[in-house]
Formats: sequence, C-alpha cells, structure tokens
Amino acid sequence: RTVYVNGDYLPEDQATVSVFDRGFLMADGVYEVVSVLDGRLLDFAGHMARLQRSLDELAMANPLSENDYLDAHRALVARNGITDGLVYLQVTRGNPGDRDFAYPPEGTRPTVVMFTQSKPGLADQPAAKTGWRIVSVEDLRWGRRDIKTVQLLFPSMAKMEAKARGVDDAWLVEEGKVTEGTSNNAYIVKGGRIITRDLSHDILHGITRAAVLRFAREAQMQVEERSFTIDEAQAADEAFVTSASAFVMPVVEIDGQPVGAGTVGPVAARLREIYLEESRKSAV
Ligand code: PLP
Repeated sequence: RTVYVNGDYLPEDQATVSVFDRGFLMADGVYEVVSVLDGRLLDFAGHMARLQRSLDELAMANPLSENDYLDAHRALVARNGITDGLVYLQVTRGNPGDRDFAYPPEGTRPTVVMFTQSKPGLADQPAAKTGWRIVSVEDLRWGRRDIKTVQLLFPSMAKMEAKARGVDDAWLVEEGKVTEGTSNNAYIVKGGRIITRDLSHDILHGITRAAVLRFAREAQMQVEERSFTIDEAQAADEAFVTSASAFVMPVVEIDGQPVGAGTVGPVAARLREIYLEESRKSAV
C-alpha cells in the first residue's frame, strides 16, 4: 500500500511517525473514515466539516484545506486502485520533541496520516441481509464522545466483549439508556417511527446519521430524536445502526432476544437502499 504522511506518498513500510508524536503518547488526535464506492468518496463534505469541528474543540490547527484533503483522498484511492473501501485520515497534535501534558507551542506541525483499506463489495455486505446480533455493555468512555478522537480503547474492549459472547457488536448503555454502538449510531423502529438518541456530548454526531435522518424525513417517515432503553429496543419492531463503513446495518438480536421477527425489517432495508442510492449520487 501507498500511504500518506505529512504531504508525502510512501510505501507503507517506509512511512514513520516520531515516538514523541502526541497521537501516540496521549491519543491527542482526531480521525475520519470516508467510504469509497466505485472509486468515489461518500459524504466527503460532511466528514470534512466534522473533522474541522473536532479540531476546533481541541484547539488544534487544521494543517490542510478541504481541497488538499480531497486531493490526497483521490490520490490514495487512485494509487492503491481502490474501487470499494475506506480512506482513514488522522490528524494528531504532532511532535513536540518530548513528553509533556501541556500542549506544544503554536506552530508545532500537526501530523497528518492517511491510508486506504480495500473492501471489495463493501455495499453488498452479506451481513446486511441477515443483520447483526449485539449485546449491551456499560458505557465507560469519557464525556466528550462528540469529538472523534483516536482514544478508542474502551470501544475496542466492548468490541472484544461482543466477540467473546459470539455476537457482532455492542451497544453502550449509560444511566439505563443506549448511547451508541462501539463505532456506529443506534436506532430502533416502533410503530413506523424511527427513534435515535438526540445529539449531545454523549455520542458522536454521525455523518451517516445526519444523511439517513434527512432521507427518512424527505420520505415522510417519522423521526424521533430521544434516548431509549435496552428493554424498549428489545420490544421494538426493528433496530439498526449506521456508520460510514456499515452504512445502514440491521440489528436482529439484542442480549439474546430477537428484535421483532428476528429478521431484517422493512424500514432498515429501505433506509439502506435510499442511503446507498442517494450518497452514490452525491459522491465526489
Ligand atoms: N459513533 C461512534 C462511536 C463511531 O465511532 C462512529 C464512526 O466511526 C459513528 C458513531 C458513526 O459515524 P459516521 O456515520 O460519521 O461514520
């Protein structure tokens, strides 16, 4: 693979970052994942807007313009021959030359790293036909989940717990309410209404979430933004998650209980279809 580091395109085994990089020492960095279908980038502007917001929240300068990022995304897709897959982008606070809790002086160059992941047939994941099974896990992450930081240890632990229990993912629960999945936003459908947690510091403001809710409203579906419990989810007609890499993924079982008929429901299936169709149209 060819990867990107601070303006250079390098073979992956020649790309390096300092041991003092604050991304490495302090998880002081943010990231984005953009999906690629037919060689084109989905929801690119949305991901760039969220990147800027994450950087602003951490008082980190954005070293590149949106156009620079677009050029780099396209260059990596072309150089690596990606038809379907993902582009990972990470911006960390860079290398102050030593370890210190205080941020380095202004002018310290942020480190920008990008790489691709090839996923042939990404839009035709067989799991979309059968759905995911999930378990609930207490949400022990920090209080600013709206910032897309590279501090992903707790979601990794929750994913490992899900795997150990033989299922696909975990839904995180705080004060009795579902926050989100390990790397996706969570939804239920009841009586035709699509219910998903409202935006706050408690969850990541998913770019796919924003698009799916917009398409749902345009299709005259009822959307309710509020939190819900695992009990309510188990009693729902349908459940699903959204993310840049899973698009709209049905959830058919929660903590061993089937959701609805325990099969992929019509609302999740329809939203997946609409999302893929519309986001391909606006891909760049
Ligand atoms: N929630 C969390 C915790 C995530 O890590 C992600 C994506 O990685 C999402 C939600 C979904 O966000 P998006 O739709 O922008 O990919």
